[in-house]
Amino acid sequence: MSQDVDIVRRWVDESGRIVALTGAGISTESGIPDFRGPQGVWTKDPKAERLSNIHEYMSNAEVRKLSWKSRLDHPAWRARPNAGHRALVEIERRGKLHALITQNIDGLHQQAGNSPDKVIEVHGTLHEATCMHCDWRGRMQPILDRVRAGEDDPPCERCGGILKSATISFGQPLVPEVIERAMRAAADAELLLAVGTSLQVYPVAGAVPAAKAAGARVVIMNAEPTPLDNLADALLRMPIGEVLPDLCGGAHPDS
Ligand code: NAD
Repeated sequence: MSQDVDIVRRWVDESGRIVALTGAGISTESGIPDFRGPQGVWTKDPKAERLSNIHEYMSNAEVRKLSWKSRLDHPAWRARPNAGHRALVEIERRGKLHALITQNIDGLHQQAGNSPDKVIEVHGTLHEATCMHCDWRGRMQPILDRVRAGEDDPPCERCGGILKSATISFGQPLVPEVIERAMRAAADAELLLAVGTSLQVYPVAGAVPAAKAAGARVVIMNAEPTPLDNLADALLRMPIGEVLPDLCGGAHPDS
């Protein structure tokens, strides 16, 4: 494996156009559980998947109340970027980052210091809320203040519609321009680093075959096997916070 790390470090050094595709696994070391890993939210409680389904959310006030409670307590509000996030900032600082496609909704890449214009949030962000009726969109914190003050399913103040985090739930369409931008970026990559994603959620997992078909080297960095491992030029199974800084020349975990 250490030989693989040396090879991938060389690919990082050689490449001028790196695209990172990140998933929940890059944020577990910041204290945010993933969904499908061994300690994942769904692995431990399969019923929790209901909260991520748009049809349940729109039709069931109890699901919405549970969702607001879980947003209020979300570990993202306390989380800080870890060495893995900082390593991707280092890639940008070295002028090598073409794009950072993330499935995460926690905002930790921007908090770590990646430029917002490099980060493509294909599944939206927890830091904003949106109305499902009039398309109002604004900051999440004032809505959470209303929940804290006793509104367990706060309606849109403009039209009375159902509010939700500005994230993409299962059953909800992606924003076409955002996913198109992500796929274009993947096809432009010289090196694609897939980091902490089980690569089971489409269409975003399609960034891996898209990059490969366009001639990029593909590195999959994930603790567990993924269905796209056969496309990888290198597979790294070590903890992201240890291996990514080593590859990117970023800060080590406790620096
Ligand atoms: P996933 O839960 O399906 O897979 C995460 C993968 O990361 C797992 O295979 C796990 O083994 C691996 N992993 C976890 N910690 C690791 C570590 N320290 N080192 C190496 N590997 C590690 O996640 P996904 O593919 O991103 O899909 C889940 C969906 O859930 C995404 O669409 C995302 O929007 C959402 N989600 C986001 C967050 C977040 O924003 N932090 C958290 C949970 C879920």
